[in-house]
Amino acid sequence: MSEPAGPAPLHGIGVSPGLAGGPVLRVAPVPPLPAPVPVTDPDAEADRAVAALREVVAELTRRADRSGEKTLVDVLRAQAMMADDPVLLDAVREHVLAGTDAPHAVDAAFATHRAAFEAAGGYLAERVADLDDLRDRAVAVCLGRPMPGVPSPGHRYVLTAWDLAPADTVDLDPEQVVALVTESGGPTSHTAILARALGLPAVVACSGARDLVDGTVVLVDGTTGAVRVDVDPDELAAAETAERERRTAVAATSGPGRTADGHPVALLANIGAARDLAAADGAEGVGLFRTELLFLDRTREPELAEQAEAYREVFAALAGRRVVIRTLDAGADKPLPFLHQTDEPNPALGVRGLRLVRERPELLRTQLAAIARAAEQTGADVWVMAPMVATRAEAAQFADAVHEAGLPKAGVMVEVPAAALRAGQLLEVVDFLSIGTNDLSQYTFAADRQSGVLAELLDPWQPALLRLIAEVGTAGRAAGKPVGVCGEAAADPLLAPVLVGLGMTSLSMSGRSLAPVRAALAARTYADCERLARLALAADDAERARKAVA
Ligand code: PEP
Ligand code: MG
Repeated sequence: MSEPAGPAPLHGIGVSPGLAGGPVLRVAPVPPLPAPVPVTDPDAEADRAVAALREVVAELTRRADRSGEKTLVDVLRAQAMMADDPVLLDAVREHVLAGTDAPHAVDAAFATHRAAFEAAGGYLAERVADLDDLRDRAVAVCLGRPMPGVPSPGHRYVLTAWDLAPADTVDLDPEQVVALVTESGGPTSHTAILARALGLPAVVACSGARDLVDGTVVLVDGTTGAVRVDVDPDELAAAETAERERRTAVAATSGPGRTADGHPVALLANIGAARDLAAADGAEGVGLFRTELLFLDRTREPELAEQAEAYREVFAALAGRRVVIRTLDAGADKPLPFLHQTDEPNPALGVRGLRLVRERPELLRTQLAAIARAAEQTGADVWVMAPMVATRAEAAQFADAVHEAGLPKAGVMVEVPAAALRAGQLLEVVDFLSIGTNDLSQYTFAADRQSGVLAELLDPWQPALLRLIAEVGTAGRAAGKPVGVCGEAAADPLLAPVLVGLGMTSLSMSGRSLAPVRAALAARTYADCERLARLALAADDAERARKAVA
């Protein structure tokens, strides 16, 4: 993106490619209740309070009507009905007639309702968060403020926030939100993952994003991380045309991953269950099947037959193609209740991933038996890999267990710097390596992968991370064995040629990211990729590495 005159652009980390612009709107905060005021006209005040609740009902109904997502529609309609409850409306009126102003009357009526829901327990008790949300919305309307949460103005806009929590984004409407810019967050934050899943350009860790006034027109470049401010309509229109042309060109590339001179790079999909395969159309296979989903919220380990069925569903859909299935990666950011793990002072450095086998060897045996049974029943090319491996001995032990289960291909993830540094030794005992850049960044920089404040350390363009990836690439070339990336770094179209130049033979990512990465590789020769890899490795920091390659 060229940078003509105007206010200085803001810069952050581009985490979801593409160019989009429009007026900025912020995620509105929950308004604090001001001091109570005396009520002079109780009837008018009561009407004001009731009108606020009706406005909330109307807004939720509008959202439900616009949404095509059935679960969301059901949730929104149920919430609208709660706000339209005559008992609640009567309670609000009574509080006002007793002398309470509208916002405090709404607050008091919801407090009583909330206590009743909590006392009822079960399903009703689980709805108190919905009640709190309704209360916040109604209080905001009484105060003449925007309803808290993601705005829904009925036109296209750029959403800005400190960071986006999963709850903020359930009703984010991709027809209205054209791009995301957050002050905090990192390449593996919820905002980044959501943006890639929705195909929205996004920039995170963007200093100054919070200070943009609603209505300021910005142009967001999710590839370079630049956010241009006060963009005029002609420029915006030109950028939108360029973006449409780019998307058409990207969509037109198809087939297996290749550089411009035909060097093959397997483009694979990351999935958590069979239902994710729909978005992975066009992938050459699956490069990371995260199996934790089946184990979440369980009080007991799923039986072998249930596991086998879940795996069979995925393998059957991929008959003839590669499926890399990862054994259970529990612990740290993925705690599983049925494991009853003891409290650890540093769970990310504790018993997680393959380390669980030290305490619960039967978990791995059952899972491998289920994978073997599912593989036998389908024609998929099943590769099995373990998470959180640090040493050759761990890799060898895992490979033995995989082979004993009758499965031919065993590999391990490279998520710990020790594994990257000894990639050659690991490849003596396994068939392939797959780099989990989300964890490899965390452990290389001693920076919690969920921390927004440390996002810059978790940037996959950090030359130290690239150096470790290069170690793995060199070991892969020497052993003649496949080595790939399956962390979020693989989804960055600007970084993809660099990873190939570092020796990666496959890249695995969410389904949506495949087309831009395929197009990026098709535009470079293998020699270009090697040159770009050298440039990125030689850079002093992540920003310079990104700039040098861009
Ligand atoms: C990774 O760490 O990069 C990875 C792919 O695994 P997960 O994100 O599931 O920890
Ligand atoms: Mg990981």
